[in-house]
Amino acid sequence: MNWKKIIAIGLTGCFLFSGCAEQRQNAQKMGEEGTQEDSYESTTFAMDTVMTFHIVAPDGEDLLIDAEQEVKRLEKLFSVTDEDSDIEQINDNAGDKAVTVSADTLALLKAGKQLGKATNNAFDMAIYPIVKAWGFTENEYTIPTQETLDTLLPLTRVSDVTIDEDASTVYLEKEGMAVDLGGIAKGYASDKLAELLKKKGVKSAWLSLGGNVCAIGTKPDGSPWRIAVQNPADENDYVGVVEISDACAVTSGGYQRYFEENGKKYHHIIDPATGKPAESGLTSVTIICKDGTKADALSTALYVMGLAAAEDFWRQTGGFDMVLISKDGRVLYTPGLADRLTEVEGSGYAYACIEA
Ligand code: ADP
Ligand code: MG
Repeated sequence: MNWKKIIAIGLTGCFLFSGCAEQRQNAQKMGEEGTQEDSYESTTFAMDTVMTFHIVAPDGEDLLIDAEQEVKRLEKLFSVTDEDSDIEQINDNAGDKAVTVSADTLALLKAGKQLGKATNNAFDMAIYPIVKAWGFTENEYTIPTQETLDTLLPLTRVSDVTIDEDASTVYLEKEGMAVDLGGIAKGYASDKLAELLKKKGVKSAWLSLGGNVCAIGTKPDGSPWRIAVQNPADENDYVGVVEISDACAVTSGGYQRYFEENGKKYHHIIDPATGKPAESGLTSVTIICKDGTKADALSTALYVMGLAAAEDFWRQTGGFDMVLISKDGRVLYTPGLADRLTEVEGSGYAYACIEA
C-alpha cells in the first residue's frame, strides 16, 4: 500500500488521498459553489499512484483529457515495468550499449544527475539494484544480506550514468546497473503538466500526483491554494497547512511504503551510503519551490540527510522552503513559511522556525 501524505484542500473543501484506487472517474463539474462553476476535476491512476487534477477554466473538461494523456505519455517513457519504455531499454542494455531516448527522458535523467551531484549523492537515481534487493519493486520484501549490499553498492553510482546530449543517448557503464526514477518522475510530470496547462491559458488549477502537489496560480478569488502536510503518525490527520501559489509541495516520508519484520519497520527511502532504509531521525520532509522536479528529488535527498544536514543544505543552497518533521515530535519550517504555515493546535508536535 502506498500511503499518500499530502492533502490538497481545494475548492471543494478537503481532499485526502489515502490509498490506491485503480479507477478513473469521469471529469466532474463542481458547479455548486457559485464562482467555481468552471471548476473541473478528475482522478486517474498513473505512475503507481492516485492522481487528481483540478482545473478552473471554461474548457476544463477538455484540458483534463489533455493532462491525462500527457501523464500517460510520460509514464510510458519512464516505466520500469514496460519493456518498451526508455528506462527499461536503458536498464536492459546496462554495460552493453548506449540507448537512444526521447527528449523528456534525456531532460529528466540530466536533472536527476545534477540533483545527485548537488545533494552529494543523497539523491541517487541509480539506486534501483538496491531497491530491487529489498523487494520494493515487487512488494515481495526481503532483508538483503550485507554481502548482497556490498556487491550491489558499487553499481549505484550516478557518475556511471553517461548522458550524451548531442547524440540523445544514455549509457549505464556497468552490467547490473539500473536507473529508477521513482523519486523524481512525478515531480517532472507535474512540471510538464503545469507547463502544458499554462500554455493553454490556465490561470488557476492544482495537480496532485500522489505526494506531489503542484499549484498553478491561485484560487479564482485570488487567495492561495492550501496544502495540508500529513501527520506521519496518522494518515487521516495533518500537522499543518501551507499556502502556496504557483509552486509545488512535495513530501517524502518513511511511513509511506514499508514492511515490518520482527517488529522493525523497513521503508522505501534508501540511504545510498549504506544501501539500507535511511534512519535519519526524520519522519517526513516537505519541499516547497517552483520547480517540481527539484522539489521531488530534494524531498527524498533531505530525508536521507537527516535534520542537521538538511538544515545546512538549505542554508548553503537556498531557493526552496521546507517543513521537516522529526521522530522526536518537532515540526521545523524555514522562515519563508512563517506567514504561510498554519499550525494545528493540539497536534502534540512542537513547532519551530529554522534559523537562517
Ligand atoms: P514517493 O515516490 O513514494 O512519493 P519519494 O519521492 O521519496 O517517495 O521516492 C522514493 C522512491 O525513490 C523509492 O520508492 C525508490 O524507488 C526511489 N529511491 C529510494 N531511495 C532513493 C534515493 N536515495 N535516491 C533516489 N531515489 C530513491
Ligand atoms: Mg522524491
